Amino acid sequence: MATAAPRSCRVDRCAEGVPPALAAESLCLDHFLDQSFTRADFALDRCQRGETIDRATLDWLLADAHGTLNALSEVAAKYDLAQQSRILELLLCIANLNDYIAHHSV
Ligand SMILES: [Zn+2]
Repeated sequence: MATAAPRSCRVDRCAEGVPPALAAESLCLDHFLDQSFTRADFALDRCQRGETIDRATLDWLLADAHGTLNALSEVAAKYDLAQQSRILELLLCIANLNDYIAHHSV
């Protein structure tokens, strides 16, 4: 596999590289996970209180995050155990949200 051009994370003062699965986001794995957890927690919180989730967040949950996480999980063996477990935790969280959304019209 060709080595991707070295790109670094768009977060200030972060020198971590961007994995190919996150090239569109320009985020390193840790920052992607941080941001995704924040968004997923926010959405889950709204779901549990019976509030609606905005369209952009829904699209992100159902398409972007899901696709990205699938791509990441395929290469998860490259990451350390803590990162792998965060990827799995986030996948589970998003699966729960998708399930929740499927059973409650939002
Ligand atoms: Zn970063």
